Amino acid sequence: MKCRICGANLTKENADICVECYKKYQEEEDLKKDNNEVYRVSGSFTVGYSIVKHLEIILIIIIAMIGCFVISNISAGICGLGFLIIYLVLMFLNDRLKGKNDRIIFYDTKLMYHTKNILITDDKTIKYTDIVDIKPYQTFKQKIFGRGDLCIYVKGVLPGGSLIGGAQIKDVKNIVKVCEDISQIFNLKRE
Ligand SMILES: [Zn+2]
Repeated sequence: MKCRICGANLTKENADICVECYKKYQEEEDLKKDNNEVYRVSGSFTVGYSIVKHLEIILIIIIAMIGCFVISNISAGICGLGFLIIYLVLMFLNDRLKGKNDRIIFYDTKLMYHTKNILITDDKTIKYTDIVDIKPYQTFKQKIFGRGDLCIYVKGVLPGGSLIGGAQIKDVKNIVKVCEDISQIFNLKRE
């Protein structure tokens, strides 16, 4: 007999999967059963912060638009105004969707990540044993508003952690406190 999953030769006559594959299967089953929510991190959305976040681009469009009106290129100015309105609407929609939907839920042995914006929706389960590092990332603006990105780095092909296969939630409120809470959880769970 050969293992139904990996094709390895089996020693026992009546078995249909090998010990290694059985272990993996058991681990996955245990992971699925883990529904004990320990901690939750969500994205955030406010109109004010959304404007601050995109301020440079908004200003550039406004300045270009004023420039067009000043040199009497009215049609280009109106075109710029239209562009500004479309940009603002898409920006708010995207930030609002992400802020309301993005979340990471920490369980006993895994975390579950959910993200949604106007282009993609993604769900992911990450085992704690695959996590290399959990770090906050803050831009200057985010620091002023007490926000930051929560980055979950996982084992990758290259040395060190990788965000590919990991997770990231942008603009988390009270990011410093959130990271302290999470590191406490991990000290408990990562024996
Ligand atoms: Zn096998």
